[in-house]
Amino acid sequence: MQLPKIWLSSPHMGGGEREFVTEAFDTNWVAPLGPNVTGFEEDISEFLKTSQDQTLTTAVLTSGTAALHLSLVMLGVNSSDAVLVQSFTFCGTTNPIVYQGAELVFVDSERDTWNMDPNALKEAIQFLLSEGFGIHEKIEPKAGKGFIRAIMPVHLYGMPAKMDELECISRETGIPIVEDAAEALGSTFKGQKCGTFGLMSALSFNGNKIITTSGGGALVSNTKEFVEKARFLSTQARDNEPHYQHSQIGYNYRMSNVVAGIGRGQMEVLDERVSQRRANNERYRRFFAKVFGVELQTELNGDFFSNFWLTSLIIDPIKTGGVDREFVRLEMERENIECRPLWKPMHLQPVFAGSKFFGTGVCVELFEKGLCLPSGSNLREDEFERIFMVLNRIFN
Ligand SMILES: *Cc1c(COP(=O)(O)O)cnc(C)c1O
Repeated sequence: MQLPKIWLSSPHMGGGEREFVTEAFDTNWVAPLGPNVTGFEEDISEFLKTSQDQTLTTAVLTSGTAALHLSLVMLGVNSSDAVLVQSFTFCGTTNPIVYQGAELVFVDSERDTWNMDPNALKEAIQFLLSEGFGIHEKIEPKAGKGFIRAIMPVHLYGMPAKMDELECISRETGIPIVEDAAEALGSTFKGQKCGTFGLMSALSFNGNKIITTSGGGALVSNTKEFVEKARFLSTQARDNEPHYQHSQIGYNYRMSNVVAGIGRGQMEVLDERVSQRRANNERYRRFFAKVFGVELQTELNGDFFSNFWLTSLIIDPIKTGGVDREFVRLEMERENIECRPLWKPMHLQPVFAGSKFFGTGVCVELFEKGLCLPSGSNLREDEFERIFMVLNRIFN
């Protein structure tokens, strides 16, 4: 008989969510605006602020993908432009570039963080400049070419990218950063929260993320105008008239007041969720410390603090005596335990075939050797016992 499924990462409610949602029903705020929407936005901004004088604001939306899309819309990305994006990511990062018709230029990851490699990024920028692409307000493009509009790093599985080096490149070149912090709510780099580094940043509250609203996202920025514009664009870009009047194309991307109620409840337990995921990671780390040929994604030094949304590792079959990631994944699957290969790089996806890629292929090797382990904050003791029974069978 099959035991119940152990998920990679499943929703984990804290209790307060129901009250906020009930309140929305009781007051009939079942609309894409209302006190939960405003409250959730304030909670997020408060959580992300490093200091009280920071001018951080948030717009909550229907998804993280929508937040990234609106960021690109507001930067004016169009079909003659190019956008630099981490290849090692989920398609939610890359698809909005396609929605705007721009060229995707993929950047490799580096060993330390598994995130955007600053050297590969520089190489990609040099190449695009030599091709005649411009940089907004700095370099005029050649005829027929557009601008390099954005750099899109990701904090994969919660691990912060090397934001100091990437910000330095952004400042020197004048190409803004759109930060994909969808997996990294609660992570910090040099004491600053992920989700506050970009000119605009995206969060996700999809069902498998560290906190969830069943589906949702947020756009965060230190520039209030972007957030206000995002609210405008996400509610169909309605001009300030008594009748429906539109001077530009908008989107139906605003989060509803019911959904935002779940978010307010989840914000109450976010710190606890980070601790729980980090405790999971520590548990796996202790086990694999004794295993030759298995390496976990690891905080490089004190500058990096990961929420360890998913505990991820790479398995070198040469060192493990033939055990590879597929073997582990299938052994787990037989026991109804969900594991997943590390994300397949976007430049290898059939849908992005033929796109440019800069780097040596670090992310390809990570994909081939890498696995994500069950990492939910609601994993029970008996579930961990089942997981470690399989791991012990394989590795001891
Ligand atoms: C989940 C995720 C997204 C998209 O978020 P949605 O809310 O599902 O649209 C984008 N980027 C990364 C890296 C993600 O993990």
